[in-house]
Amino acid sequence: MHRRSNAAGTVTTGCQARIIPVIAIDGPSGAGKGSVSRAVARALGCRYVDTGAMYRAVAWLASDRGLALDDEPGVRRLAEEAELDQDGGTVTVAGHDVTTLIRNATIDAAAARVARMPSVRRVLVGRQRAYAALGGVVMEGRDIGTTVFPNADVKIYLDAAPEERAARRAADPAHGLGRNASTLSAVASALEARDRSDRTRDSSPLVMADDAVCVDTTGLVLETVIERVLAIVRRRLSARGGAGPPV
Ligand code: C5P
Repeated sequence: MHRRSNAAGTVTTGCQARIIPVIAIDGPSGAGKGSVSRAVARALGCRYVDTGAMYRAVAWLASDRGLALDDEPGVRRLAEEAELDQDGGTVTVAGHDVTTLIRNATIDAAAARVARMPSVRRVLVGRQRAYAALGGVVMEGRDIGTTVFPNADVKIYLDAAPEERAARRAADPAHGLGRNASTLSAVASALEARDRSDRTRDSSPLVMADDAVCVDTTGLVLETVIERVLAIVRRRLSARGGAGPPV
């Protein structure tokens, strides 16, 4: 009997060790992380965790409680104490279903501010790590492969040309925007500002992990991206050896 070491550990049944995979999917806004991560999680039979939704939910709760966004200790307390759940695509915080309430320009900006707070990041990273203790996980964000799970079994960095990411965001009904020239340019400049904030913040800036595989999704339809990512996952998990998940 042998055990392998990976990000989340192994389950050992008789002589058969089965990897509990941790798949990290990082990249900038609009690169397609959400749709791809959900599909990969479904194919692997793993939990899917959207860590951006956690920063958004804390930002929403802070605003709901009338907390100023320069009150880092107050926001950290909320991040520590609030019940925070993601189940079947529904995001809840402190008992409120915020699934749609956290997808708008105001929360985009508020979540980016919350995400710059080191003490809030520490709390949410701890909560993100705890998810992996529950079983295999596909987790998407900005710092999953670099900070949350530096030993993830598979690290994917999804990217796309800025103009394509902006067009996807503008067309995404979850963001509540129509696809016309003025909204497209507004979305493009908001996206550029968030990219800058994500890449230049002191605490866990968006960078590709050295051992991540970069998938450029520019010009690719979603199905193709999912196939490519699943092929990488299959290769990586089988290179780690043992009975991987049914991918
Ligand atoms: O991905 P999404 O746009 O929902 O992320 C919301 C905010 O949280 C963004 O400003 C993003 O930079 C931040 N974030 C982060 N670390 C993560 C996930 C998201 O800083 N792991």
